[in-house]
Amino acid sequence: MGLSDVHARIAKACAEANRPTDDVHLIAVSKVQPLDRVEAVLNAGHRLFGENRVQEAAGKWPDFRERFADVSVHLIGPLQTNKARQAFDLFEAIHSVDRPKLAQTIARLAQEEGRCPDLFIQVNTGEEPQKAGILPDEADPFIAKCRALDLPLRGLMCIPPVEETPSLHFALLKKIADRNGLDGLSMGMSSDFEQAIAFGATHIRVGSAIFGERVPQTE
Ligand SMILES: *Cc1c(COP(=O)(O)O)cnc(C)c1O
Repeated sequence: MGLSDVHARIAKACAEANRPTDDVHLIAVSKVQPLDRVEAVLNAGHRLFGENRVQEAAGKWPDFRERFADVSVHLIGPLQTNKARQAFDLFEAIHSVDRPKLAQTIARLAQEEGRCPDLFIQVNTGEEPQKAGILPDEADPFIAKCRALDLPLRGLMCIPPVEETPSLHFALLKKIADRNGLDGLSMGMSSDFEQAIAFGATHIRVGSAIFGERVPQTE
């Protein structure tokens, strides 16, 4: 299946980059995939998944968690502040922290609940107006703000513009992370995860290469 193929490609990319394979966490992006495909990947022993919508994750993961131990689900899509509490219950990590208001809401919930998912700050490396993420120029002060709020920052995340060379964006994200002393890098998808690994990715988000093409959604 796609999963073993992706594992082999990760091993090769890590070898070429002189990195140990267990440096790289494979997030299997299960959004929109038929449940039997997700279950097949669970049955193959994989436990780390990514979803981009709170509602969709709420509909599928509580059930899978009852049947499979040690499942971890990461939110990789935008988070509205009014869904932050629900996100606390559904996800081990949130990759889309991208504005002060959301950071403050998460900090308040963390205080109330005495726990917090791991957090990645999303950086809009391509400075695309329609895309989520803090602008590169604003990243350093925003990271400082999150630290002042005592948030558990794991690293940074980016989604490069589709029509540009992803490496430039991976390099930029790594540079921002390095100068801020962060070591988690959530970057790389089906089409470019080998390059992301070469540039230091610690969390790659791979959907279609594992599960097959997503069935197009009408919205
Ligand atoms: C859907 C999605 C992915 C996975 O995309 P593929 O090209 O199927 O690997 C990765 N990251 C984010 C943020 C996504 O929304």
